Amino acid sequence: MNQNHHTYDVVIIGAGVAGCATAIALKNEVPHLKIAIIERTPRMSTEDSTLYRIGETLPPQASQQLQRLGIWKSFLNCNFITAYGTSAAWGSSELYHNEYMYSPYGYGWHLDRIVFDQFMIKEAQIREVDFHFETSIISSEKKSKHWFLQTNAKKHQIAITSNFVIDATGKKAAFSSLQNSNKIREDQMVGIYRFYNTKDLHNDTTGIGNGTCVETDHNGWWYSATLPNETVVIGYMTDADIANQLQLRQKKAFNNLLYNTKYTNNRVKDAIYLSQPKVVAAHTQYLSSATGNSWLAVGDAASSYDPISSLGIFKSLAMSQFAAYATLDDLKGDQSGLQKYQQIVARDYLGYQKKRQEYYAQEDRYTSSLFWKRRQSNYNYYN
Ligand SMILES: Cc1cc2nc3c(=O)[nH]c(=O)nc-3n(C[C@H](O)[C@H](O)[C@H](O)COP(=O)(O)OP(=O)(O)OC[C@H]3O[C@@H](n4cnc5c(N)ncnc54)[C@H](O)[C@@H]3O)c2cc1C
Repeated sequence: MNQNHHTYDVVIIGAGVAGCATAIALKNEVPHLKIAIIERTPRMSTEDSTLYRIGETLPPQASQQLQRLGIWKSFLNCNFITAYGTSAAWGSSELYHNEYMYSPYGYGWHLDRIVFDQFMIKEAQIREVDFHFETSIISSEKKSKHWFLQTNAKKHQIAITSNFVIDATGKKAAFSSLQNSNKIREDQMVGIYRFYNTKDLHNDTTGIGNGTCVETDHNGWWYSATLPNETVVIGYMTDADIANQLQLRQKKAFNNLLYNTKYTNNRVKDAIYLSQPKVVAAHTQYLSSATGNSWLAVGDAASSYDPISSLGIFKSLAMSQFAAYATLDDLKGDQSGLQKYQQIVARDYLGYQKKRQEYYAQEDRYTSSLFWKRRQSNYNYYN
């Protein structure tokens, strides 16, 4: 194996929205900064129609973050589907509509997540950020002022020296965990989801139109949204133990549960499924510390929110600017930026926690359900 050596000002681990947005924010502030993004997966192709990624509703206020990052015009050129609001059967069997038209920021978007994530990578590359795909960090050591990172790439090993490291590895928080920061989980939520082709369905009998819909049941809640290319995603959010008990990885069990819904099933009842049920982690989590000695965590690595909030991408975009300021302060030898950043992450998390509790409290029909009991304010998950 060949071994190359690279030196950077900042290394970011993870090429998701948080990693790319932070790289863009840093480059906007200091264009000559040498930045690399290390990503363990291969670069995805937007041409591959068999690839799907979940997590796609972008709220209207994200427009401000996209403008601040200087990527607003190219975002609009992606032509994502406009989202006018969300429909919900939550706390009642009747469907009500939350229209974005009451938002001062206008409408939101249904993203094709693969196209969006590739768009973010391209914007970082335009600003001369280096990318190392199919590469993982295998060891890290801080000596004096520098991080020494050993990586395992597909074809060769790379040794990297960097002044600052940013953990943008999503819920894994891989680098922060190596720095002895603990991941604190608030629940064990998972999402089980499938994609459907609705091309030949002409009559919308649901009243949901192109929008996002959430609908509760005894063991959790359903989520559905329209995606580009006449595709609909259906997801069921519940706790991992309940999903196992109900065997929801099996399509028969998934379909039986879906069949009993009042609204969600109608969106896909005559549609062709494009994928088998897949499970993703969807738990709420935060780090005991999102900063340390010349490192910080951003995006889901720092804190990840319940999908009901539809705030994950927005938060990653918004926090990227604060992460960039804290990084630049640290590079100048001023650690107070990291302290401020930690406070901002913690404050945002507390605000989210309060809203989440209020939202779940609105559903009081399933008093005997473990899933809903676990989301009451006085429930201790680990009892
Ligand atoms: C079921 C579900 C539905 C959701 N719905 C929405 C929604 O509608 N709207 C919304 O805004 N948000 C939603 N979210 C949340 C949103 O998807 C996340 O908040 C967002 O993707 C976080 O971005 P990130 O860049 O922090 O992490 P990620 O997108 O997870 O990116 C992390 C990157 O790091 C890479 N990586 C991981 N480990 C390593 C390693 N060791 N070395 C190198 N690379 C590594 C990964 O391959 C990945 O590319 C949803 C989440 C779930 C689970």
